[in-house]
Amino acid sequence: MPISAFPRVRLAHLPTPLEPMERLANYLGGPELYIKRDDCTGLATGGNKTRKLEFLVADALRQGADTILTAGAVQSNHVRQAAAAAARAGLGCHALLEREVPCEKSSYRKSGNVLLDGLLGCRLDYCRRGTDLPSAMRVTAQALRAQGRKPYIVPIGGSNAVGSLGYVQCANEIEEQCRVRGVGVTRLLHATGSGGTQAGLLAGFREAGPELEVIGISVSADRAVQRRKVRRLTSELWELMGLGDPLPPSAVHVRDEFVGEGYGQPTDAMLEAVQLCARLEGILLDPVYSGKAMAGLIHMVRSGELNAGDTVVFLHTGGAAGMFAYDWYLGRS
Ligand SMILES: *Cc1c(COP(=O)(O)O)cnc(C)c1O
Repeated sequence: MPISAFPRVRLAHLPTPLEPMERLANYLGGPELYIKRDDCTGLATGGNKTRKLEFLVADALRQGADTILTAGAVQSNHVRQAAAAAARAGLGCHALLEREVPCEKSSYRKSGNVLLDGLLGCRLDYCRRGTDLPSAMRVTAQALRAQGRKPYIVPIGGSNAVGSLGYVQCANEIEEQCRVRGVGVTRLLHATGSGGTQAGLLAGFREAGPELEVIGISVSADRAVQRRKVRRLTSELWELMGLGDPLPPSAVHVRDEFVGEGYGQPTDAMLEAVQLCARLEGILLDPVYSGKAMAGLIHMVRSGELNAGDTVVFLHTGGAAGMFAYDWYLGRS
């Protein structure tokens, strides 16, 4: 089924720009670099979840839901975008926030995305670290139904086959932008967490074959776990879209050396990446996702894995709203 056949509501400012990063490329001295600005999707400070929510909210409306129920970490960019999407669609929003990151700073607990969740009218329930969020959401959904509400569960990160359609569409958009500008991309790098972004991109770029490598830089799981997650989502997406030959497992590239101590825990390499992009390009990354993904890109240029023979697209997945929760780390410089 072509992507245009799936129900979709418009939430994002599209197409997002594809821009050269000449100053960063000159500084690093390696491949030609471009940045796909999905931090500019526009919804309540933007980010990659907005594309997924276009398909998820359409599905919720089709099912007659009146409430979006979702979950994430305390500083979830996904929850913030889901809250905004629900507001735009006239739906309620209820989110479970797991205290996944061991951080007691008051800015982490109250500023950044959490502050915006509240402004956007999202009801927040906190859960302790290690909570099984999918089961907790099922329990909350029951409670909401008992109150006469009609909840629609959006999985963590909006990552199921329906949500991943957003990144099939993004891949099509990148292909078209590259065609018009005559850019021959060899590698696309991005932060990978719940996996839907990578699964969608792999489906969208399936015709490109091995000449275009999509490389997910993990922000939490180790490589084997993350590859499994992405492969499972990819096969669900293949089924939903009724695609032919399955994706060869070798097409799922994941790097896990840039996580540091764990999800949401800052690293020096992330800080360097955030500072370089800010100071050379005027672009704001984020400490949890795009900063670590850019740290991966920088490392791969310095090690020669990405070199003058490559044309690299960095997919900026957003998250700058989370900067204000990390003032205690980012403000060191
Ligand atoms: C959620 C998120 C990601 C990861 O995308 P997944 O589809 O969950 O893998 C990357 N960057 C930012 C800023 C995010 O909020």
